[in-house]
This record gives sequence, C-alpha cells and structure tokens, in this order.
Amino acid sequence: MIQKVLVANRGEIAVRIIRSCREMGILTVAVYSDADRKALHVLYADEAYHIGPSPSADSYLNMDNIMRAARLSGADAIHPGYGFLSENASFSARCQEEGIIFIGPGPDAISTMGDKITARKTMMEAGVPVVPGTDGEIRSEEEALQIIGDIGLPVMIKASAGGGGKGMRLVKNDKEVTSALRAARSEARAAFGDDAVFIEKYIESPHHIEYQILADKHGNAIHLFERECSVQRRHQKIIEETPSPILTPLRRQQMGDAAIAAAKAVDYCGAGTIEFIVDKDLNYYFLEMNTRLQVEHPITERVVGVDLVKEQIHIANGEPLRLEQEELKQQGHAIECRVYAEDPENNFMPAPGKVTHIDIPYGVGIRVDGSIYEGIEIPLFYDPLMAKLIVWGKDRQEALERSQRALKEFKITGVRNNLRFLERILQAGAFVEGNYSTHFIDENKDFLMALDECPDECEDMVIITAFMEYLRRVKKASPKEMTALKNNWKDYPRVRSVFKL
Ligand code: ADP
Repeated sequence: MIQKVLVANRGEIAVRIIRSCREMGILTVAVYSDADRKALHVLYADEAYHIGPSPSADSYLNMDNIMRAARLSGADAIHPGYGFLSENASFSARCQEEGIIFIGPGPDAISTMGDKITARKTMMEAGVPVVPGTDGEIRSEEEALQIIGDIGLPVMIKASAGGGGKGMRLVKNDKEVTSALRAARSEARAAFGDDAVFIEKYIESPHHIEYQILADKHGNAIHLFERECSVQRRHQKIIEETPSPILTPLRRQQMGDAAIAAAKAVDYCGAGTIEFIVDKDLNYYFLEMNTRLQVEHPITERVVGVDLVKEQIHIANGEPLRLEQEELKQQGHAIECRVYAEDPENNFMPAPGKVTHIDIPYGVGIRVDGSIYEGIEIPLFYDPLMAKLIVWGKDRQEALERSQRALKEFKITGVRNNLRFLERILQAGAFVEGNYSTHFIDENKDFLMALDECPDECEDMVIITAFMEYLRRVKKASPKEMTALKNNWKDYPRVRSVFKL
C-alpha cells in the first residue's frame, strides 16, 4: 500500500493532491524550483526537495532530479498531476524500472494516446467514431489536396504530437494548404520535436465535450459523465460545466459507452479523459485522450460525489474499482472558472507579478482550489493559473447565479487577472442560455471585452468618495457627520445629483 507520495508538480494541482493524500494518512513530498521556494505546495507538504533552477526543463521536467528526490525521501509513489511529466511515457517507464509506483497509466497507453495519428487508428479499430480525415501522416501537398478533395473544405491540419492547442491550422480554401502545412509543421517541430501532421474535417461551431473515466488493473472501466468545455480562448479552456446543457439522455449514454470502449482499447488504467468534438446535430467524434487528471476534474467530483485523486491512489495500489457504473449519478450542476494572471485585453498575455491582496469567495456551494496567498510572486516560468472557482448549485440556474455572486466577491490585486472577463462571460446571453460553441469568445468579443465599464455600484462608490472628500476638506464636516453619510449612502441613489451643490 502506498504510504508516501512525491508530487512531481507545482501550483494548485500539487496542493490539491497533497490534500487528498493527507486525508488518506499518506505522507507527501513536494519538489520545487528556484522560483517556487515559497510556493504553497512546498509549505503544505510533509517534506520538500529542491530540484533545480526555475525553467521547467531544468526542474519540473528534469527526471533525474525528480527520481533522486523520490529516492532520498523514500517515496513509494509519484503523482505527476497534469502538464509537465504527466503524459511522458518514458517517465512512467522509468518509475516502473526504479520500483516506484507511477500514479497513472503505463507507458504503452500514454504512447498510443499521445500520438494523435496512432490514437485515431486505435479508436477506429475499437469502433469509436473519429472525425473524418486521414488514416496516417500527410507527407506532401499533393496528398493533402487529394484528402481535401475527398472530405471537402474546410479542414484542420493538426500535429500528431499536438497539445495545448499548438500545431493546429484551419484551411478554408485550396490556396491556404501550402502555408498552413508549413506553419503547422514548424510549430509542431518547435514545440514537440516531431513535425508529423494529419488532416481532419473542420467541424463547424462545435462543442468540446469530454468524459471522465476510471479504469483499474483488473480490466474494469467506468465513466463519470461529461464536462462541457466549449468556452475556450486560443483553443484552451477557461470555463467548464457539467452536465452539458446540450446533451440528451440518450446521447449522454452513447458517448459514455464510447468513452469506456476507448479506454478499454488501450487497456487503460487510472483516471483519464476522452475528449469528443460534437457538432450541432449532436454527432460526436473522438478528438483525443488525456492520460492524466484534468484541470477541470473538480466539477465532476462535485456533481458525481467522488474524490478522483483518492480513486487514482486506490487504483495505483492495485485495488479493483470501488464504484459501479449503475450507482453513479449526476447531482445538480457545477461550473468551474479558471482564474489566470493574464491580460484579456492584450490577447490573454500572461501577466506575472506579486499578489498584494486577495478576497476569496466563501459560502454555500463554493470550492476554491488555488496556490496563491498575499505576497506571493506569480513566476513567469509556468502556466499563470492562480486559482479555480468551482461552484455547485441544485440546477444550472442556481450554479450560474452562485458563480456570478462568487466572482463578484473574488478580488485579486497586484497582478492583472481575468476575473472581470470571467464575470462578463457568465453574463453573456449565449452562456446564460447554455447555447454556445467553441467560437463563443470570438463571437461575443465586443460584449466580453467591455471590461472598463464601471458598474453602477462602483460608480456610486467613486462619487461618494469624492463627495466625502469635498465635505471633509471644503465643508469641514465632522467625522460623525461623515460616518452618518457613509452608512446611509444608499439613501442617495445617485450621489451625483447631491454633489451638484
Ligand atoms: P490539443 O491537443 O492541442 O488540445 P485538440 O485536438 O484537443 O488539441 O483540440 C483542441 C481544440 O481545437 C478543440 O477543443 C476544438 O475547439 C478545436 N478543434 C480541434 N479539432 C477540431 C476540428 N476537427 N474541427 C473543429 N475544431 C477543432
């Protein structure tokens, strides 16, 4: 049985994993880079080991240093979190070789699913629908044009090794093929060291809907329903919800069955996610599998009532699944908003800096997974995710209203962040109606970007502050008179008229 887990990650996910381990009585080991000496995961873990300089390549991706920390600490298992080494087949293999349990699948499943071309082939053989497109790698422009002739425009040229929205190009007409092929290849080479690309039919106004699955080492697999992840910027998710507002009960079940078939086709073991792209007629196609825990896993935890990290650990221990498909239900509705240190008005550029003040929302139905505290520096070396707001309601309406309330209470100063932008999303008509595709942000740019608009309440506050200053300095009002006015400021609906003295 696992007794000590090294968490080979940082930020909110490292903290989140440590919490579940502690509840299970399992000791935890953190690893950290130079930039993370004061990070929350280091403070929370039972032990912490320095693994190198700030750049990820020298620390969180440095297998030698991480394995050394595992040996020194006597950890018997490694949890890779998401990102970094979580989908690295060599790392999973290396853990096996060194007799340390990798809390995740074996190297074969990671390699098969990590290569989109191989994954497509495997899914086709398993009878899981894939987006119409090529069977293998595209090697020349002629080959590309031939495929396009068969499936029709528009198409996506995609990197086989792709991830994080990189190495993907949309082609709307024949003339764009050469440049798109070149661009996708060179981006893939730079990002993944592998320039193999393939072609897929471009699905118009699609939904990104994914299924959480759990599989054990005894051949059992279950799904824990879907997550709707269509609110994306730069092909990356920022708000997710479950249940999906568009699925019918029948489609939900069919997609769940397909997700289980996909996992079984690679003898999957652990927690994983099958991503589907869904068109407006609810036709669904396998997009890819993520062989790890997802950023958005907490909404599933909230609605299904499981702790996925604990299940991962039980599976890694070799235990059979502790849940049966028939007993799982979706209860209520959950929405996750990702809070980033980034500038929505400047193409969502990461905006590192020092957090000077935070107001975290509390109250019924609220969970905040985060890694920030007042005074911490958000390093520029890593993904700038600061926190995740996970909100539950008895139905979508309540989850939405509660999320809006919580976002109003959520304040972070010192670093630019997307809190106001998230608030705007939750007010946008298409989101409120639950009728949005992956183009939602582009299609609603004008509304979403009107961030500097001052809401009524804030305008009143500005006016009252100015008015108080006026009373104090010019009218020499006493502190008592000023307090009376401050407490009653709501009685002066638009203080502006009063201020016209
Ligand atoms: P990555 O591994 O880089 O995240 P995915 O294949 O998961 O790439 O796709 C990421 C996003 O790109 C999807 O959620 C969707 O918005 C868009 N996308 C990918 N493939 C298609 C397609 N064939 N048609 C339309 N949109 C697509």
